[in-house]
Amino acid sequence: MDVKDLQRENIKTLKPYSTARDEFKGQASVFLDANENSFGSPLPANYNRYPDPLQLDLKDAICKIKGVPIENTFLGNGSDEAIDLLFRAFCNPGKDNVIILPPTYGMYEVSANINDIEIKKVNLLPNFQLDLERIAEAIDVNTKLIFICSPNNPTGNSIHRVAIETILANFKGLVVIDEAYINFAKQKTFIQELTEYANLVVLQTFSKAWGLAALRLGMAFSSVPVIDILNKIKPPYNINQATQDLALAALFNVQQVNEWIKTTVTERDRLSLAFEKITFVKKVYPSDANFILIEVTDALKIYNLLVDNGIIVRDRSKVTLCEGCLRITIGTEEENNQLLTILTQLS
Ligand SMILES: *Cc1c(COP(=O)(O)O)cnc(C)c1O
Repeated sequence: MDVKDLQRENIKTLKPYSTARDEFKGQASVFLDANENSFGSPLPANYNRYPDPLQLDLKDAICKIKGVPIENTFLGNGSDEAIDLLFRAFCNPGKDNVIILPPTYGMYEVSANINDIEIKKVNLLPNFQLDLERIAEAIDVNTKLIFICSPNNPTGNSIHRVAIETILANFKGLVVIDEAYINFAKQKTFIQELTEYANLVVLQTFSKAWGLAALRLGMAFSSVPVIDILNKIKPPYNINQATQDLALAALFNVQQVNEWIKTTVTERDRLSLAFEKITFVKKVYPSDANFILIEVTDALKIYNLLVDNGIIVRDRSKVTLCEGCLRITIGTEEENNQLLTILTQLS
């Protein structure tokens, strides 16, 4: 299989936008080519120049941490941008389809709908693992992408590795593994498999463990042809200079992030045990993420009682296979204590 053949014909023949700095390569000190403000910015730092379209300094630092070459790395304005670009590059509106595995992250479906791409839903099994038989049945010649979220949002579990590998080895389209919560998981990342599978796309993000949701920075790792296509069709300056600077600075503070991850996992295990003891909690699902899904006797009532006490959780009780469930993000120790005090009072 050649992944280049998966792209849309109009993308294959597209002549991409050429930036002022694409057209000039070399040394210069006077830049009068991009209609920027040559005086500076009305700020302590200068943002008057357009940022590097390929974010090479930032990618270099990311690649050192991840062990993935730059040519296999794409950066997006959040992983949500990478998701949207995958649809635009590989899925013909009104013709192609993608497979999603509910209950899962909502953006895959929204992005498909925006791009007028048919969605085929194959529910996870009751244990929230893949239904490989029904996935195989759902695949047809127009199926371009399969989205696998692992650890899965909102259920919190990791998807069994062997099942994912079965799909990677047999599906002729792209397998997108969304690892937004991988830093909290016992299971290891699929990044190491990039050399094995040309049809693998791994999504990660700075929005969760890295604590940079407001900067909007997501990563996609894949084979060179897929990365080249994403770079060809992305908005030229999709990662702004402030985000590039701040993310680069954050990468020097990986130690702090690792400490938070450890605390989050400790707190997750403490909360899971504590939830078990609360009378109206019917089930606590095991979690490999920074949140826990619990089934309660009356989700809306508990949700509203928590709101009355200033605590917001996510009501997932209307979601397939999550009937009666709330999704609770792990907070700081103090926030978690507040939550437990109120839940205990209510029970
Ligand atoms: C939070 C989350 C993301 C992150 O998206 P960004 O656009 O990078 O903030 C991606 N996938 C899943 C499953 C998520 O829960």
